[in-house]
Amino acid sequence: MSHSNSRRQFLTKSGLAAAALSLGIFSRASENRTNVREKKKELEVYKKGLALSTWNAGIIANNAALATMSTGGNATDMAEEGVKVIEADYSNLSVGLGGLPDREGHTTLDACIMNSIGQAGSVCFLEKIKHPVTVARMVMERTPHVMMVGEGAQQFALSQGMTLEDYESPEAVKAYKEWLVKSEYKPIINIENHDTIGMLTMDTNGDIAGSCTTSGLAFKMRGRVGDSPIIGAGLYIDNEIGGATGTGLGETVLRSCTAFLIVELMRQGASPQEACEEAIKRVEKINRFMKDDYQVGFLAVNKQGEVGAFGLRPGFNYALHKNGANQLIDAKYHLKK
Ligand code: ASP
Repeated sequence: MSHSNSRRQFLTKSGLAAAALSLGIFSRASENRTNVREKKKELEVYKKGLALSTWNAGIIANNAALATMSTGGNATDMAEEGVKVIEADYSNLSVGLGGLPDREGHTTLDACIMNSIGQAGSVCFLEKIKHPVTVARMVMERTPHVMMVGEGAQQFALSQGMTLEDYESPEAVKAYKEWLVKSEYKPIINIENHDTIGMLTMDTNGDIAGSCTTSGLAFKMRGRVGDSPIIGAGLYIDNEIGGATGTGLGETVLRSCTAFLIVELMRQGASPQEACEEAIKRVEKINRFMKDDYQVGFLAVNKQGEVGAFGLRPGFNYALHKNGANQLIDAKYHLKK
């Protein structure tokens, strides 16, 4: 090819390129390529399923969630069955009937669940029922309501075939007796003393669901409910965008609608990590009048199966089951101590 020919071809091509660019054709083509790549990445995550949950106990819960998926369960089944294993572990002092009691010596349970079609169910201040998350799911699927509390929630659970369990954890009773001596609140929640479980799941369809279950703050005032069973505070799922759940001093989370905020930040383009960081900073800002130190930690997942995690202080960890591997990870944090 002569120099002038190749020069002409170059000019023609670059002319076409300029025209294409001005028409947005290239950007659309590369956008499509990115979309195809993203879709493929999504599909790889979907095939293997994903579960993400708070604290050390998350490892066992994630395994239970993934086992549920392998026998045909969807994201909601994963979210329920995953945390049920922790509710059934009576040695856990923060979840289920083994949980530390309120100031009057009664263990009261809070839980919620949200599925991929926008339905939600929640129970608060529930006593003597082994699986509050299952009652929350029944509220979601068998009633026109979202939230039931106390005696009414218990009556509903019984009407659905559940039974009352009068379990008293020896460890919890001992801790309560010790607490009675000084009767002080200790709002710091960390690996050493807390296990409220919040879980986010993604199934083989790429559908997202989540759950959260707790006995709440140890030695709380009778009737106190934290963020964990509150849709938008302790848990939020929007299957088009992603989900978020967390743990920590519930009052601070309630004031800042943290889970909903994280999902909304992701909707505006933030990655799950960026969204968690921004939301935790917001928690700190909104609660700056607080005199005591406290901990809050949040997790998020988006539709691509990318995850994020962030704590207000050091000490928040979580378990991530992704691409077939289940591991415990220390979250990054905002304040140095
Ligand atoms: N969020 C729970 C509550 O305030 C406690 C926790 O996560 O440890 O009840």
